[in-house]
Amino acid sequence: MQCNELVCEVCNNASMQLKCSFCHKKLCYACAHFELVGSGCGTVYPLYYCPSCAYDDSINPNACFKEPQKKKE
Ligand SMILES: [Zn+2]
Ligand SMILES: [Zn+2]
Repeated sequence: MQCNELVCEVCNNASMQLKCSFCHKKLCYACAHFELVGSGCGTVYPLYYCPSCAYDDSINPNACFKEPQKKKE
């Protein structure tokens, strides 16, 4: 049974290609936040985060450098 395994969990776009590096949520290229994260010894890892992880500074070391996300309170 194929039940939409390749659907982005953020926007339901059926072209999921990526996974969040932290929570492994399925993401399409439009929703994934690409980050280069340094390991501290000169090595930089490319990572992708879902929108909720991308703005969480306990998850994404670069979250504080991002523009504040517009939130609907
Ligand atoms: Zn998406
Ligand atoms: Zn995530």
